[in-house]
Amino acid sequence: MNSQKNTKQDLLRLIPNVDEVLKWLTENVDGENIASADAPRRLVLQAIRDSLEEQRAVILAGEKIAREALSREVIVARCREKLAQMLRPNFRTVINATGVVIHTNLGRSVLPEQTMQTLLRAGSCYSNLEMDLSTGKRGSRYSLVEEILCDLTGAEAGLVVNNNAAAVLLVLDTLAKEKEVIVSRGQLVEIGGSFRIPDVMARSGAKLVEVGATNRTHLKDYEDVINEETSLLLKVHTSNYKIIGFTSEVPLPDLVALGAKHGLPVMEDLGSGCLLDLSAFGLQKEPTVGEVVGSGVDVVTFSGDKLLGGPQAGIIVGKKTIIDTIKKNPLNRALRIDKFTLAGLESILRFYYDEQQALQNVPTLAMLTATKEVLKRRAEKLLRRVRKKIEKKCTASLAKTASKVGGGALPEQDIASWAVSLLPIDRTVAELERNLRLAENPVIGRIENDIFILDMRTIQDREIALLSESLCGLLGENG
Ligand SMILES: *Cc1c(COP(=O)(O)O)cnc(C)c1O
Repeated sequence: MNSQKNTKQDLLRLIPNVDEVLKWLTENVDGENIASADAPRRLVLQAIRDSLEEQRAVILAGEKIAREALSREVIVARCREKLAQMLRPNFRTVINATGVVIHTNLGRSVLPEQTMQTLLRAGSCYSNLEMDLSTGKRGSRYSLVEEILCDLTGAEAGLVVNNNAAAVLLVLDTLAKEKEVIVSRGQLVEIGGSFRIPDVMARSGAKLVEVGATNRTHLKDYEDVINEETSLLLKVHTSNYKIIGFTSEVPLPDLVALGAKHGLPVMEDLGSGCLLDLSAFGLQKEPTVGEVVGSGVDVVTFSGDKLLGGPQAGIIVGKKTIIDTIKKNPLNRALRIDKFTLAGLESILRFYYDEQQALQNVPTLAMLTATKEVLKRRAEKLLRRVRKKIEKKCTASLAKTASKVGGGALPEQDIASWAVSLLPIDRTVAELERNLRLAENPVIGRIENDIFILDMRTIQDREIALLSESLCGLLGENG
């Protein structure tokens, strides 16, 4: 008992004080270690304190530690490790090998190089964000993209806010506050847990009037509940799930006709909102924004960073009188987008003037429409780089897999793809997943039937070298 106490006390006494370690650290700067040369002193001290505190806690908890663990060398190494962690940015880029193209947790859409050049300038220079250069007078930031949006969708007017959830909120707040909005029960969707149509409506002060049954709603269901409190007919594109079997939804043109008959505006929340018809590439037919606008609906809302492939934004297009009212809503000011988004969005939208350009340059579209041959070649390229180098610890093979669109779009659509599959020998698949996720250049893949899958669809060609490095670093001879 007594002897153990002494050991604890002995060990505690071996812990150096902060100033001492600070001296060791600064004496030890050897050029190649990021440790302390230009790190903020405050973080260096924090790293030392945390590190020593951890050691103290281990000793006090009675865990056995060797005296060497308190040597100058080991302590310095620990502090440097801690400091390196503190200096590493929290926001990090990762390699998306999940095959989910619009992966909300991984930042949704990747932007084209050309768009990034535009963003670089938008950030490092002043701009005409709210100045009309032809008159020198104050302009509106929306005018930078409104005309293009109208060109591409056939709408009379448009504006852009922070995201699509904000777009829905703003439209409802403008058109339906304290009034009734009719929506089909089959369309009361939740998107990613934090966006539920009924909740957003409640926030906007609109009163939700649900009609129909979950699987079937008819035009008569809408017509039956229309009264003088009704302000809007809402259709929500159920992009993230499908009701199958005995179902019926009122076609948009019928809803538009009903709205016209009763003098009520009709809105569709399209969610993903694609400007191109991707069915030619084997994807299910989704209504394009242009088609929805063309059916005579008054307002359409959709995301900037889902199928459009741009930055996070909520886009509202529709009839001029309605859009003008929405623009004047004070809430609009609170939901406004910043200059980066606007610059990025304009750049992305301009690609859409030429369908081929959009398909080639907008990564989201390029990934969704990449051919199996391209994906197979990409997988083979990765295999050539890593297979031999990692074979002692992991079997790498070419494998068929299925990618997903993601972002709540085309939920039941599987897109045939090629992958490199990894079957580790020296660790479990779960450990491999964790190791790759925690690597210096994190790789996020998915586990399927106890095999780790790297889907080539969401990996960019220029990332292959980095990915090989990560794999060889972890699973190679010296890994
Ligand atoms: C994704 C989605 C939203 C929310 O869009 P954000 O841009 O993520 O805010 C709203 N409605 C529908 C139908 C959606 O699919």
